[in-house]
Amino acid sequence: MRNNSFEDLDTFKAWCKENGFVYPSSEIYGGFAAVYDYGPYGTLLKNNIQREWEKYMIQERNDIYLIDSAIFMHPKTWEASGHVQSFADVLVEDKKTHKRYRADHLIEEYFESMGEKIDCDKKTPEELANIIQKYNILSPDGNELTTPRNFGLMVKTNIGTTDSTLTDQNVVYARAETCQGIYLNYKNIIDTFHPKLPFGIAQVGKAFRNEIVARQFIFRTREFEQMEMQYFHHPKDKDRIFDMWMKERMNWLVNVIGLRSQNLRFKRHEKLVFYASKAFDIEYNFRTLGGFKELEGIHDRGDYDLSQHSKFSGIELDYFDPDTQESFIPHIIETSIGLNRLFFAVLEDALTVEKVRNGKGEIDNRIVLKISKYLSPIKIGILPLVKQDKLIELSRSIQNVLKREYITQIDISGSIGKRYRRFDEIGTPYCITVDFKTLEDSTVTVRDRDTMQQDRVSIADLTKYFSDKFK
Ligand code: ATP
Repeated sequence: MRNNSFEDLDTFKAWCKENGFVYPSSEIYGGFAAVYDYGPYGTLLKNNIQREWEKYMIQERNDIYLIDSAIFMHPKTWEASGHVQSFADVLVEDKKTHKRYRADHLIEEYFESMGEKIDCDKKTPEELANIIQKYNILSPDGNELTTPRNFGLMVKTNIGTTDSTLTDQNVVYARAETCQGIYLNYKNIIDTFHPKLPFGIAQVGKAFRNEIVARQFIFRTREFEQMEMQYFHHPKDKDRIFDMWMKERMNWLVNVIGLRSQNLRFKRHEKLVFYASKAFDIEYNFRTLGGFKELEGIHDRGDYDLSQHSKFSGIELDYFDPDTQESFIPHIIETSIGLNRLFFAVLEDALTVEKVRNGKGEIDNRIVLKISKYLSPIKIGILPLVKQDKLIELSRSIQNVLKREYITQIDISGSIGKRYRRFDEIGTPYCITVDFKTLEDSTVTVRDRDTMQQDRVSIADLTKYFSDKFK
């Protein structure tokens, strides 16, 4: 029996798979840990989320440049950024099962189970070892743990033209965050576009991390996508700009993406990396993962990144202000959100089970993905009332009119009620039904996913009807 509450992760994962949103990677080979593929509806949804981010962050502003930098960068990039030396998580292993865990997560979970809180962010392996020893913390299977140690998160590979060049000496890294590509292109943007401060550079793309724990579905994967923006400014403006981005990012999540505000909150970082002066996370209440977890980071990175790249490359990365004749390295405020994590939050937030009366008057469950219509993978479902050539033909001609503007889908299999339910479940905001009356008077019914109200609309007016709906 399928549990329709969607409160537990396994049910949620099964739903994502059954409905063509997310598939485990390499499933026919038994799967590949912490990597996922996106099915047809998942891909459309992910693209729509990305498009909304680009609209809000670039199209609707005049001060942010969108770029697309390469995944591979000069290896010195990662020395300058500090990743090669210190991008690591603290690992512990169950001495019996050899399952590996992040020490900070195990300790935090232990304290949570005791109704207490502890923040393990940025604690060293020695500090974590002391806590594990003091409280006698065991693995989830009740076994002793190994001594905590650092585990590098960078994904390494070799590229070169001959076998002899593929040595340990010329290791390259798959980028662990997209923002480094932005810092490396800062000078290009300055030289080509001569922007005045403050301005931003943004990009969306893949990042790779050899994450230790891999049991949180698409929340934490080894290959994922980030939507990052770096806002370059004069340090005197940093507080005002930080506040602006806190408001902007929360506004986007609530009013554009449509996440329920009660499921979002800010969390201030108490312990900061040495170069940061302020950092906040926006956390989302992931029900299926047991509570609030990081969705987006907003960080004041100071002038660390450009200073480091200037030092390691030997290239001056100063900004010259023609008004004040001042020359300095701009400071950076970063907003960074995982596209896949947001995708997870969007689905969890929108997936609803409603009680409705079916055709026989009985109470039934209706699963509806109450997603913003701008994010819906399929915008309009087209349903011939029955499988009859003339109705199917007419449905196709309606699709031909609408398909350049909207992603549409014709469904001819099963009862009309079942087909409505299928479209409800994948979040399709409107369904057109082509029935026998259509053959007489060229009108169709259009059903609204949320209200289930039906309008009778002339085929000739459909383009205008939908352009009003999607305005
Ligand atoms: P966490 O503490 O969860 O490991 P982080 O603080 O290392 O995340 P950042 O480096 O600030 O994360 O990355 C910015 C955003 O990228 C995060 O807020 C998250 O949405 C996303 N992200 C980071 N790591 C992963 C991952 N392994 N899988 C999916 N998304 C990720």
